[in-house]
Amino acid sequence: MSRVLNFSPGPATLPLPVLEEVRDELVDYKGTGISMLEHSHRGKAYDAVHEETIALLEELVGCKGTHEVLFVGAGATGQFAQVPMCWLSDGQKKADYVDTGAWSKKAYKAASFYGTPRWAGSGKEGEKYVRAPMDLDLDGDAEYVHLTSNATIMGVQYDAFPDVGGKPIVCDMSSDMLWKPIDAEKFGVIYAGAQKNLGPAGVCVVIVRKDVLGKMKKDVPDIFNYHLIAEKRSTQNTPPVFPIYVMNKVLNWVKAEGGPKAMEERNRAKGEVLYGAVDAHSDFYRCPVEKGSRSVMNAVFNLPSEDLEKKFIAEAAEQGMLNLKGHRSVGGIRVSMYNAMPIEGVQKLADFMGEFQKANG
Ligand SMILES: *Cc1c(COP(=O)(O)O)cnc(C)c1O
Repeated sequence: MSRVLNFSPGPATLPLPVLEEVRDELVDYKGTGISMLEHSHRGKAYDAVHEETIALLEELVGCKGTHEVLFVGAGATGQFAQVPMCWLSDGQKKADYVDTGAWSKKAYKAASFYGTPRWAGSGKEGEKYVRAPMDLDLDGDAEYVHLTSNATIMGVQYDAFPDVGGKPIVCDMSSDMLWKPIDAEKFGVIYAGAQKNLGPAGVCVVIVRKDVLGKMKKDVPDIFNYHLIAEKRSTQNTPPVFPIYVMNKVLNWVKAEGGPKAMEERNRAKGEVLYGAVDAHSDFYRCPVEKGSRSVMNAVFNLPSEDLEKKFIAEAAEQGMLNLKGHRSVGGIRVSMYNAMPIEGVQKLADFMGEFQKANG
Protein backbone atom coordinates (compact mmCIF):
# COMPACT_ATOMS: atom_id res chain seq x y z
CA MET A 1 0.00 0.00 0.00
CA SER A 2 1.27 3.47 -0.83
CA ARG A 3 -0.85 6.13 0.83
CA VAL A 4 0.60 9.64 0.70
CA LEU A 5 -0.05 12.59 3.00
CA ASN A 6 -2.88 14.45 1.29
CA PHE A 7 -3.06 18.09 2.38
CA SER A 8 -5.83 18.86 -0.12
CA PRO A 9 -8.44 21.48 0.84
CA GLY A 10 -11.24 19.29 -0.47
CA PRO A 11 -12.22 16.70 -1.39
CA ALA A 12 -9.88 15.94 1.45
CA THR A 13 -8.19 13.08 3.22
CA LEU A 14 -10.49 10.60 4.97
CA PRO A 15 -9.63 8.44 7.99
CA LEU A 16 -7.93 5.27 6.75
CA PRO A 17 -10.16 2.96 8.86
CA VAL A 18 -13.17 4.48 7.11
CA LEU A 19 -11.75 3.73 3.67
CA GLU A 20 -10.90 0.19 4.72
CA GLU A 21 -14.41 -0.44 6.01
CA VAL A 22 -15.92 0.93 2.81
CA ARG A 23 -13.62 -1.33 0.81
CA ASP A 24 -14.56 -4.38 2.86
CA GLU A 25 -18.28 -3.71 2.48
CA LEU A 26 -18.24 -2.46 -1.08
CA VAL A 27 -19.42 -5.51 -3.00
CA ASP A 28 -21.68 -7.11 -0.40
CA TYR A 29 -23.01 -4.76 2.27
CA LYS A 30 -23.37 -6.72 5.53
CA GLY A 31 -24.54 -9.95 3.92
CA THR A 32 -27.32 -8.33 1.89
CA GLY A 33 -25.65 -9.46 -1.33
CA ILE A 34 -25.90 -5.89 -2.65
CA SER A 35 -23.45 -3.01 -2.53
CA MET A 36 -24.46 0.18 -0.72
CA LEU A 37 -24.00 1.74 -4.16
CA GLU A 38 -26.99 -0.31 -5.30
CA HIS A 39 -29.31 -0.25 -2.31
CA SER A 40 -32.68 1.49 -2.58
CA HIS A 41 -32.89 4.74 -0.67
CA ARG A 42 -36.24 3.50 0.65
CA GLY A 43 -34.99 0.07 1.72
CA LYS A 44 -34.21 -1.14 5.23
CA ALA A 45 -30.44 -1.38 4.88
CA TYR A 46 -29.99 2.22 3.74
CA ASP A 47 -32.70 3.61 5.99
CA ALA A 48 -30.84 2.42 9.08
CA VAL A 49 -27.68 4.18 7.87
CA HIS A 50 -29.62 7.35 7.03
CA GLU A 51 -31.32 7.59 10.43
CA GLU A 52 -28.12 6.77 12.31
CA THR A 53 -26.29 9.51 10.41
CA ILE A 54 -28.89 12.09 11.45
CA ALA A 55 -28.67 10.88 15.06
CA LEU A 56 -24.86 11.05 15.03
CA LEU A 57 -24.91 14.63 13.77
CA GLU A 58 -27.50 15.59 16.42
CA GLU A 59 -25.27 14.10 19.08
CA LEU A 60 -21.90 15.42 17.86
CA VAL A 61 -23.17 18.92 17.05
CA GLY A 62 -25.33 19.01 20.19
CA CYS A 63 -28.56 20.01 18.46
CA LYS A 64 -30.96 17.18 19.25
CA GLY A 65 -34.50 18.45 19.72
CA THR A 66 -33.60 22.06 18.86
CA HIS A 67 -32.64 21.75 15.19
CA GLU A 68 -33.56 19.68 12.12
CA VAL A 69 -30.67 17.88 10.43
CA LEU A 70 -31.11 17.79 6.64
CA PHE A 71 -29.15 16.39 3.70
CA VAL A 72 -29.29 18.24 0.39
CA GLY A 73 -27.50 18.34 -2.95
CA ALA A 74 -25.78 21.25 -4.75
CA GLY A 75 -23.18 21.65 -2.01
CA ALA A 76 -22.64 24.61 0.27
CA THR A 77 -22.94 26.73 -2.87
CA GLY A 78 -26.58 25.66 -3.13
CA GLN A 79 -27.18 26.93 0.41
CA PHE A 80 -25.74 30.34 -0.54
CA ALA A 81 -28.96 30.63 -2.60
CA GLN A 82 -31.49 28.43 -0.82
CA VAL A 83 -31.27 30.18 2.56
CA PRO A 84 -32.04 33.68 1.17
CA MET A 85 -34.55 32.26 -1.34
CA CYS A 86 -36.57 30.84 1.52
CA TRP A 87 -35.89 33.48 4.16
CA LEU A 88 -35.43 36.88 2.49
CA SER A 89 -37.54 36.95 -0.61
CA ASP A 90 -40.75 38.37 0.87
CA GLY A 91 -40.56 42.16 0.82
CA GLN A 92 -36.84 42.36 0.17
CA LYS A 93 -35.83 41.46 3.69
CA LYS A 94 -32.35 42.38 4.91
CA ALA A 95 -29.45 40.29 6.11
CA ASP A 96 -25.97 41.08 7.41
CA TYR A 97 -22.98 39.36 5.82
CA VAL A 98 -19.37 39.31 7.00
CA ASP A 99 -16.62 39.39 4.38
CA THR A 100 -13.82 36.93 4.93
CA GLY A 101 -13.06 36.33 1.29
CA ALA A 102 -14.26 34.46 -1.78
CA TRP A 103 -16.83 32.15 -0.18
CA SER A 104 -18.56 34.91 1.76
CA LYS A 105 -18.66 37.03 -1.42
CA LYS A 106 -20.41 34.21 -3.27
CA ALA A 107 -22.92 33.86 -0.45
CA TYR A 108 -23.56 37.62 -0.54
CA LYS A 109 -24.03 37.62 -4.31
CA ALA A 110 -26.56 34.78 -4.18
CA ALA A 111 -28.50 36.56 -1.41
CA SER A 112 -28.76 39.71 -3.51
CA PHE A 113 -31.10 37.88 -5.94
CA TYR A 114 -33.71 37.46 -3.20
CA GLY A 115 -33.24 40.11 -0.53
CA THR A 116 -31.00 42.93 0.56
CA PRO A 117 -27.69 41.75 1.96
CA ARG A 118 -25.34 44.26 3.50
CA TRP A 119 -21.72 43.98 4.64
CA ALA A 120 -21.52 44.19 8.42
CA GLY A 121 -17.79 43.64 8.67
CA SER A 122 -14.69 42.68 6.76
CA GLY A 123 -11.47 40.87 7.51
CA LYS A 124 -9.65 42.55 4.64
CA GLU A 125 -6.71 44.87 5.10
CA GLY A 126 -4.97 46.15 1.98
CA GLU A 127 -4.87 43.27 -0.48
CA LYS A 128 -5.15 40.47 2.07
CA TYR A 129 -7.64 38.94 4.42
CA VAL A 130 -6.00 39.06 7.81
CA ARG A 131 -8.68 38.44 10.41
CA ALA A 132 -12.08 37.05 11.33
CA PRO A 133 -13.75 40.31 12.36
CA MET A 134 -15.34 40.39 15.82
CA ASP A 135 -16.55 44.01 15.82
CA LEU A 136 -19.53 44.05 13.54
CA ASP A 137 -21.68 46.96 12.40
CA LEU A 138 -25.05 45.23 12.68
CA ASP A 139 -28.36 46.34 11.19
CA GLY A 140 -31.22 46.04 13.70
CA ASP A 141 -33.56 45.07 10.85
CA ALA A 142 -31.43 42.22 9.54
CA GLU A 143 -33.04 38.79 9.64
CA TYR A 144 -29.76 37.02 10.29
CA VAL A 145 -25.99 37.44 10.37
CA HIS A 146 -24.10 35.30 7.87
CA LEU A 147 -20.62 34.11 8.86
CA THR A 148 -18.08 31.80 7.28
CA SER A 149 -16.60 30.06 10.30
CA ASN A 150 -13.48 29.08 8.38
CA ALA A 151 -12.43 30.89 5.21
CA THR A 152 -10.85 27.92 3.45
CA ILE A 153 -9.01 29.94 0.81
CA MET A 154 -7.74 32.78 3.03
CA GLY A 155 -6.83 30.63 6.04
CA VAL A 156 -8.91 32.82 8.37
CA GLN A 157 -10.98 31.12 11.06
CA TYR A 158 -13.31 32.17 13.86
CA ASP A 159 -12.28 30.60 17.14
CA ALA A 160 -14.89 32.38 19.29
CA PHE A 161 -17.86 33.86 17.44
CA PRO A 162 -18.81 37.55 17.56
CA ASP A 163 -21.68 38.84 19.66
CA VAL A 164 -24.59 39.40 17.27
CA GLY A 165 -27.11 40.55 19.85
CA GLY A 166 -29.18 37.39 19.80
CA LYS A 167 -29.78 37.43 16.02
CA PRO A 168 -29.69 33.97 14.45
CA ILE A 169 -26.32 33.24 12.87
CA VAL A 170 -26.36 31.56 9.46
CA CYS A 171 -22.99 29.88 9.26
CA ASP A 172 -21.09 28.28 6.41
CA MET A 173 -19.11 25.63 8.32
CA SER A 174 -18.04 23.71 5.21
CA SER A 175 -14.39 23.50 6.16
CA ASP A 176 -14.49 23.28 9.94
CA MET A 177 -17.68 21.46 10.92
CA LEU A 178 -16.93 19.32 14.01
CA TRP A 179 -13.40 20.67 14.42
CA LYS A 180 -14.42 21.44 18.01
CA PRO A 181 -17.59 21.61 20.13
CA ILE A 182 -19.93 24.53 19.37
CA ASP A 183 -22.88 26.13 21.10
CA ALA A 184 -25.50 25.11 18.53
CA GLU A 185 -28.20 27.30 20.07
CA LYS A 186 -26.64 30.46 18.55
CA PHE A 187 -26.99 29.15 15.04
CA GLY A 188 -30.18 29.53 13.04
CA VAL A 189 -28.74 27.65 10.08
CA ILE A 190 -25.49 25.72 9.81
CA TYR A 191 -24.51 24.31 6.44
CA ALA A 192 -21.48 22.35 5.32
CA GLY A 193 -20.47 20.64 2.11
CA ALA A 194 -19.23 17.27 3.37
CA GLN A 195 -16.04 17.02 1.33
CA LYS A 196 -13.75 18.87 3.73
CA ASN A 197 -14.27 17.71 7.28
CA LEU A 198 -17.20 15.27 7.12
CA GLY A 199 -16.86 12.84 4.25
CA PRO A 200 -16.83 12.65 0.46
CA ALA A 201 -18.30 15.15 -2.00
CA GLY A 202 -21.95 14.87 -2.95
CA VAL A 203 -23.90 15.78 0.16
CA CYS A 204 -24.38 19.02 2.04
CA VAL A 205 -25.44 18.90 5.69
CA VAL A 206 -27.92 21.62 6.68
CA ILE A 207 -28.92 22.12 10.32
CA VAL A 208 -31.89 24.43 10.84
CA ARG A 209 -33.09 25.65 14.23
CA LYS A 210 -36.77 24.92 14.67
CA ASP A 211 -37.88 28.53 15.20
CA VAL A 212 -35.93 29.54 12.10
CA LEU A 213 -37.58 26.77 10.10
CA GLY A 214 -40.84 28.53 10.97
CA LYS A 215 -39.62 31.64 9.11
CA MET A 216 -38.80 29.77 5.92
CA LYS A 217 -41.17 30.26 2.97
CA LYS A 218 -43.29 27.35 1.82
CA ASP A 219 -44.20 28.71 -1.62
CA VAL A 220 -41.00 27.64 -3.30
CA PRO A 221 -40.46 24.54 -5.47
CA ASP A 222 -40.68 21.39 -3.34
CA ILE A 223 -37.01 20.58 -3.74
CA PHE A 224 -36.05 23.88 -2.04
CA ASN A 225 -38.75 23.77 0.62
CA TYR A 226 -37.01 23.22 3.95
CA HIS A 227 -40.32 22.24 5.57
CA LEU A 228 -40.82 19.38 3.12
CA ILE A 229 -37.20 18.33 3.30
CA ALA A 230 -37.51 18.08 7.09
CA GLU A 231 -40.89 16.33 7.00
CA LYS A 232 -39.64 13.73 4.53
CA ARG A 233 -36.36 13.35 6.44
CA SER A 234 -34.37 14.35 3.33
CA THR A 235 -35.80 11.53 1.22
CA GLN A 236 -38.24 13.60 -0.81
CA ASN A 237 -36.08 12.70 -3.80
CA THR A 238 -33.15 10.28 -3.96
CA PRO A 239 -30.59 11.43 -1.41
CA PRO A 240 -26.87 10.96 -2.15
CA VAL A 241 -26.90 7.49 -0.66
CA PHE A 242 -23.23 6.62 -0.95
CA PRO A 243 -21.77 9.92 0.34
CA ILE A 244 -24.14 9.75 3.33
CA TYR A 245 -23.07 6.16 3.98
CA VAL A 246 -19.38 7.18 3.97
CA MET A 247 -20.13 10.25 6.12
CA ASN A 248 -21.83 7.91 8.60
CA LYS A 249 -18.53 6.07 8.96
CA VAL A 250 -16.58 9.31 9.40
CA LEU A 251 -19.00 10.42 12.13
CA ASN A 252 -18.69 7.07 13.87
CA TRP A 253 -14.93 7.49 13.68
CA VAL A 254 -15.13 11.00 15.19
CA LYS A 255 -17.30 9.66 18.00
CA ALA A 256 -15.03 6.68 18.70
CA GLU A 257 -11.98 8.97 18.80
CA GLY A 258 -13.59 11.04 21.55
CA GLY A 259 -15.90 13.43 19.68
CA PRO A 260 -15.45 17.15 18.96
CA LYS A 261 -13.58 17.76 22.23
CA ALA A 262 -10.89 15.26 21.25
CA MET A 263 -10.82 16.67 17.70
CA GLU A 264 -10.21 20.14 19.13
CA GLU A 265 -7.24 18.99 21.23
CA ARG A 266 -5.68 17.32 18.22
CA ASN A 267 -6.42 20.17 15.84
CA ARG A 268 -4.92 22.74 18.19
CA ALA A 269 -1.83 20.57 18.61
CA LYS A 270 -1.49 20.30 14.81
CA GLY A 271 -1.91 24.07 14.51
CA GLU A 272 0.86 24.63 17.04
CA VAL A 273 3.23 22.35 15.15
CA LEU A 274 2.52 23.92 11.76
CA TYR A 275 2.50 27.58 12.82
CA GLY A 276 5.48 26.83 15.05
CA ALA A 277 7.38 25.92 11.87
CA VAL A 278 6.17 29.12 10.18
CA ASP A 279 7.10 31.37 13.11
CA ALA A 280 10.47 29.72 13.64
CA HIS A 281 11.51 31.29 10.31
CA SER A 282 9.13 34.21 9.96
CA ASP A 283 11.47 36.01 7.56
CA PHE A 284 11.17 33.01 5.19
CA TYR A 285 7.62 31.72 5.81
CA ARG A 286 5.19 34.64 5.95
CA CYS A 287 1.61 34.07 7.11
CA PRO A 288 -0.58 37.08 6.31
CA VAL A 289 -3.19 36.20 8.94
CA GLU A 290 -3.20 37.70 12.45
CA LYS A 291 -2.40 35.19 15.17
CA GLY A 292 -5.87 35.14 16.74
CA SER A 293 -7.53 34.36 13.38
CA ARG A 294 -5.13 31.81 11.94
CA SER A 295 -7.02 28.78 10.73
CA VAL A 296 -6.10 25.45 12.26
CA MET A 297 -7.85 23.78 9.32
CA ASN A 298 -6.12 25.58 6.43
CA ALA A 299 -2.81 27.30 7.11
CA VAL A 300 -1.69 29.68 4.36
CA PHE A 301 1.73 31.23 3.94
CA ASN A 302 4.14 32.59 1.37
CA LEU A 303 7.81 32.00 0.69
CA PRO A 304 10.18 34.77 -0.42
CA SER A 305 9.46 34.11 -4.14
CA GLU A 306 7.09 32.22 -6.40
CA ASP A 307 9.98 30.14 -7.65
CA LEU A 308 10.75 29.00 -4.12
CA GLU A 309 7.07 28.19 -3.60
CA LYS A 310 7.11 25.98 -6.71
CA LYS A 311 10.28 24.27 -5.50
CA PHE A 312 8.75 23.75 -2.04
CA ILE A 313 5.64 22.12 -3.53
CA ALA A 314 7.70 19.90 -5.85
CA GLU A 315 10.13 18.73 -3.17
CA ALA A 316 7.35 18.08 -0.66
CA ALA A 317 5.55 15.98 -3.30
CA GLU A 318 8.72 13.93 -3.82
CA GLN A 319 8.55 13.12 -0.12
CA GLY A 320 4.91 12.05 -0.29
CA MET A 321 3.27 15.30 0.87
CA LEU A 322 0.75 16.38 -1.74
CA ASN A 323 -1.66 19.16 -2.65
CA LEU A 324 0.08 22.03 -0.88
CA LYS A 325 -0.52 24.63 -3.55
CA GLY A 326 -2.50 27.68 -2.42
CA HIS A 327 -5.80 28.52 -4.10
CA ARG A 328 -5.27 29.87 -7.62
CA SER A 329 -6.73 33.25 -6.59
CA VAL A 330 -4.18 33.88 -3.84
CA GLY A 331 -1.16 31.69 -4.63
CA GLY A 332 1.37 30.68 -2.00
CA ILE A 333 1.13 27.52 0.09
CA ARG A 334 -1.96 26.12 1.78
CA VAL A 335 -1.77 23.27 4.27
CA SER A 336 -5.16 21.70 4.90
CA MET A 337 -5.22 19.62 8.05
CA TYR A 338 -8.77 18.60 8.80
CA ASN A 339 -9.83 16.14 11.51
CA ALA A 340 -8.64 13.14 9.50
CA MET A 341 -5.06 14.44 9.12
CA PRO A 342 -2.94 12.86 11.86
CA ILE A 343 -0.47 14.99 13.81
CA GLU A 344 2.36 12.80 12.52
CA GLY A 345 1.56 14.06 9.01
CA VAL A 346 1.75 17.69 10.13
CA GLN A 347 4.96 16.98 12.05
CA LYS A 348 6.54 15.49 8.94
CA LEU A 349 5.64 18.60 6.96
CA ALA A 350 6.95 20.88 9.74
CA ASP A 351 10.26 19.00 9.72
CA PHE A 352 10.44 19.39 5.96
CA MET A 353 9.77 23.13 6.32
CA GLY A 354 12.76 23.43 8.66
CA GLU A 355 15.02 21.58 6.24
CA PHE A 356 13.77 23.49 3.22
CA GLN A 357 14.44 26.81 4.94
CA LYS A 358 17.96 25.72 5.87
CA ALA A 359 18.72 24.71 2.30
CA ASN A 360 17.11 27.72 0.61
CA GLY A 361 16.94 30.52 3.20
C1 LIG B 1 -15.63 24.41 -0.28
C2 LIG B 1 -16.41 25.49 0.32
C3 LIG B 1 -17.63 25.89 -0.24
C4 LIG B 1 -18.20 25.28 -1.50
O1 LIG B 1 -18.68 24.04 -1.24
P1 LIG B 1 -19.42 23.17 -2.36
O2 LIG B 1 -19.87 22.00 -1.58
O3 LIG B 1 -18.39 22.87 -3.42
O4 LIG B 1 -20.53 23.99 -2.91
C5 LIG B 1 -18.35 26.88 0.39
N1 LIG B 1 -17.87 27.46 1.51
C6 LIG B 1 -16.70 27.11 2.07
C7 LIG B 1 -16.24 27.79 3.32
C8 LIG B 1 -15.94 26.12 1.48
O5 LIG B 1 -14.76 25.77 2.03
